[in-house]
Amino acid sequence: MIFEVRSTKEGISMSHRQALRARQENAVVSGVATKAIFVDKALNAELWDVDGRRFIDFAAGIAVTNTGHRHPYVMNAVAKQAELFTHTCFHVAPYESYIKLAERLNRIVDTGEENRTMLVTTGAEAVENAIKIARAHTKRSAVVAFTGAFHGRTMMGMALTGKVAPYKKGFGPFPAEIFHVPFPAAFSGVDVEATLLALDNLLASDVEPDRVAAFIIEPVQGEGGFNAAPAELLQGLRERADKHGIVLIADEIQAGMARTGTMLAVEHSGVRPDLVTLAKGLAGGFPLSAVVGKARIMNSAHPGGLGGTYAGNPISVAAANAVLDVIENEKLCARAAWIGEKVGASLDVIAARQGMERIGDVRVSGAMIAFELVEDKDGKIAAPQLTSQIVAEAEQRGLIILSCGIRYNVIRLLPPLTIEEPVLDEALHILETSIEAAFSKIASAMAEPR
Ligand code: PMP
Repeated sequence: MIFEVRSTKEGISMSHRQALRARQENAVVSGVATKAIFVDKALNAELWDVDGRRFIDFAAGIAVTNTGHRHPYVMNAVAKQAELFTHTCFHVAPYESYIKLAERLNRIVDTGEENRTMLVTTGAEAVENAIKIARAHTKRSAVVAFTGAFHGRTMMGMALTGKVAPYKKGFGPFPAEIFHVPFPAAFSGVDVEATLLALDNLLASDVEPDRVAAFIIEPVQGEGGFNAAPAELLQGLRERADKHGIVLIADEIQAGMARTGTMLAVEHSGVRPDLVTLAKGLAGGFPLSAVVGKARIMNSAHPGGLGGTYAGNPISVAAANAVLDVIENEKLCARAAWIGEKVGASLDVIAARQGMERIGDVRVSGAMIAFELVEDKDGKIAAPQLTSQIVAEAEQRGLIILSCGIRYNVIRLLPPLTIEEPVLDEALHILETSIEAAFSKIASAMAEPR
């Protein structure tokens, strides 16, 4: 038996995870919130915890392990690189693999022009650099972002993020000259026309267009609830960006790297951005991020203005070059679309059943899949309690899922794109029973006399 029960001084039995939870509380800051799934090992779409419990991983490290945990091809590339060198600092002793990755990303990102790439380490850092570059290019300061957006936990990342709790609360002041316009979403009552009107009003009443360096948008909002930016919105931004010389940045950190059925999510709209930020799925679990975009914009920053000690770490770069091969060889864009159709169809069937009316909306962007939980038919009242109950029921049954959304009422599903079909089927069965269990628990709690 792998599950082990230990005795403490007080004679109370504790699982390994309980013991680790207690140590975590005493050693790690509470601001770093975590689940209580302490991982022991993981392979492709499965993960085992320190008590031997098996989970199917529908979080994929928040859209990172698109190629699965420890893909053998990626691991082999990493092992080979580890035999050669693990760090030199690209500024000190550059290496070919970084240049090769830049060449490949320049070909992947369609801006309609010649591209250049820079590598850094985290998503937030890529966002920071995209803004630095847009400011250096335009010699302007202001940036327009969207409500519900998430762009990272650094100062500029937080400033651009359009959700106060938990990301911004108590951490200000933030960099100045950041503006937000409402993002169109199914239940918010905001459509594309209203968004573009708000943007035009902003440019008329708050900040003149020739002070705006950049528009930054997630083609599919991640933390905000998996709402896709309609093509007309991206077209509207493109038109205004062209008219006023503003840099259009697509933040593809969560939605990029084959996740939505195309290499980049923005491709669905036919709109070409000026700059793109990438991270997460780029290196299959190793820390790496990139800014890719038009050479004439990317080269605006002066030599020495960009980079960092760990930027473009050789191990991460080796992983990323291997990830690009796997995406191509295993046709993971098509697989993402197939996963989306299968999971979406199964969610539609559940949502159509009697008693499941509180599943207010099912959203599918390839393998970036979400469903929204609401109290009423037109979705004006969110159901965050039901949402967290479903997450808890799934965890008990061995399926890791995450919630998101500005109203904390969206469940997002991010299976690795390499997930085996029987494992996917098993996960969908667990999801269905978890939804049923949560619905009946919440219903009986509400029926109890108060
Ligand atoms: N942008 C987007 C769209 C993201 O989803 C995230 C991470 N959730 C970030 C930026 C920040 O990335 P990181 O956590 O690696 O800094």
